[in-house]
Amino acid sequence: MRWGTIRKPSVAWRVTPNLVDYDAVCRSFTWDDARTALDGLPGGRGLNIAYEAVDRHVAAGNGDRVAVRWRGRHGAREEWTYAQLSERSDRFAGALRAMSVQAGERVFALLPRIPDLYVAALGTLKARCVFSPLFAAFGPQPIAQRLHIGQGRVLVTTESLYRRKVAGIRESVPDLTHVLISGTWSADPAAAGVQELETLLNAAPTEFEIEPTDPEDPALLHFTSGTTGTPKGAVHVHAAAVMHHHTGRYALDLHPGDVFWCTADPGWVTGTSYGIFAPLLHGITMVVDEGEFDADRWYGIIESERVSVWYTAPTAVRMLMKTGSDVALAHDLTSLRFVASVGEPLNPEGVLWGQEVLGLPIHDNWWQTETGGIMIANFAALDIQPGSMGRPLPGVEATVLLRDAHGRIAVHDGVVEPAPPGEEGELALRPGWPSMFRTYLGDEERYRDCFVGGWYRTGDLVRRGDDGYFWFVGRGDDVIKSAGHLIGPFEVESALMEHPAVAEAGVIGVPDPVAGEAVKAFVSLHRGYQPTDELRLELLGFARSRLGAAVAPKEIAFDPDLPMTKSGKIMRRVLKARELGLPVGDLSTLEETS
Ligand code: AMP
Repeated sequence: MRWGTIRKPSVAWRVTPNLVDYDAVCRSFTWDDARTALDGLPGGRGLNIAYEAVDRHVAAGNGDRVAVRWRGRHGAREEWTYAQLSERSDRFAGALRAMSVQAGERVFALLPRIPDLYVAALGTLKARCVFSPLFAAFGPQPIAQRLHIGQGRVLVTTESLYRRKVAGIRESVPDLTHVLISGTWSADPAAAGVQELETLLNAAPTEFEIEPTDPEDPALLHFTSGTTGTPKGAVHVHAAAVMHHHTGRYALDLHPGDVFWCTADPGWVTGTSYGIFAPLLHGITMVVDEGEFDADRWYGIIESERVSVWYTAPTAVRMLMKTGSDVALAHDLTSLRFVASVGEPLNPEGVLWGQEVLGLPIHDNWWQTETGGIMIANFAALDIQPGSMGRPLPGVEATVLLRDAHGRIAVHDGVVEPAPPGEEGELALRPGWPSMFRTYLGDEERYRDCFVGGWYRTGDLVRRGDDGYFWFVGRGDDVIKSAGHLIGPFEVESALMEHPAVAEAGVIGVPDPVAGEAVKAFVSLHRGYQPTDELRLELLGFARSRLGAAVAPKEIAFDPDLPMTKSGKIMRRVLKARELGLPVGDLSTLEETS
């Protein structure tokens, strides 16, 4: 079905978009020019994300501007000015130094969306340590694995999260020498090896001088999942700030005076690149909501905070659509000027729902953990093709590469061939933008495998139209996208197989009308175990207690005959084909590729 095109007016803009003449800006764009939007550390001492995001606004006399408007889960409200954020993050950096935590060491955060999360991120970067956020809905196992791979030296968390998720795995992460508790700690700190963050911050100096920072110094470590093996730690550098600023300007159309709300949690890359850095780099006010999704609450936040630019996710859009437009109509949403979404395909219905209910279409954009920033977008001034993720950002070169049945890209004399318009292939990007990941921590081989013939392979299947718009087709691998979160099937299978009843496990994503995909596991049992409902519930609980609600399967089916390759690997694609009632296809091919 064709959904037509949403034509953008060239007159009557409330605020003229930052990007009006797309082709002209693409032609003249250089990354060196983009970099001039930032100041650099005083005295030409390099580029530090936290300085650019906070301190330079204070230095320019804008310390009184509100940086963060925080809404607590239970109705509390706080405002943090740029000057306050600058001082507290200075103290955080000073506290790290007082504990002898060195530049380059990893500081993890396992926190709800509370002000200390933002302070920890900025303070870590000021100290030239590497910030690595963990999603608070992870269970102990994903947390332990990520702390282990990242060799986390410091963890900032709360007492409740520590007790529920970290205390039990502490011995498996010996590099973790400092646990800092945001809020109060009710037991004897010495016994548990933890310290109250507030005490450390109170003892730290109010000012911290950022040491010279090379734009190529590591700054952020974001974990992402692959089809097999452990999670991958994508390393980003301070130069990423150039991209966060650039995309904030063109893809999110941020203007001075905007109130911006990114609903993503900083446990995922969108929640740091756009839930922390991009708005602060633009010196505007960002809204942070500690609460979980609730349609009335969300519309209420847009209304009461006068949100002008809103960045959310297709799952959230579908949940809002499900709630019904009368909830939206009960609120004044006229403060909104630009709405965008990311993380999974945005159905054309979602784009049009925005037009009808919010009075604005939703601008889909595409990127991933490895790219560190938005790569392909529907821009404020450009026509929208509902269902398309848009066109490459100025400065970004994107192509579509043909794959063979084994997922390989044909290379002739080191050169790869782009797919003709309309033909499906793998989305590939020309390396060189500043927020591109620099490696997978400790796994150079997996990093190198991402490149072919001078292109970075994204792993996503797409098509490009004659007009240069890109259309998402699907993932090129078995990774699951549920509620916008990437989940590695291997991580889930491994957790299930720790249960004594489980002999083999295969995990796939099955279609879900709201979350896009839901995690479903198929398990075969060891002799002596019966496939009962009790065991199914026990396995669901077992997986949830280890993996956490964000990763655990929602459904488990018993299958004594799981499809395996000769070498003993589960053929997830056969499971998926069976589940969807599709032809299983050529098993000899699957045999090689699974
Ligand atoms: P993550 O690394 O967790 O941010 O997930 C990135 C993946 O999410 C991409 O590789 C895509 O598979 C998917 N994704 C992100 N944005 C979009 C979009 N606009 N349309 C379709 N899929 C998307």
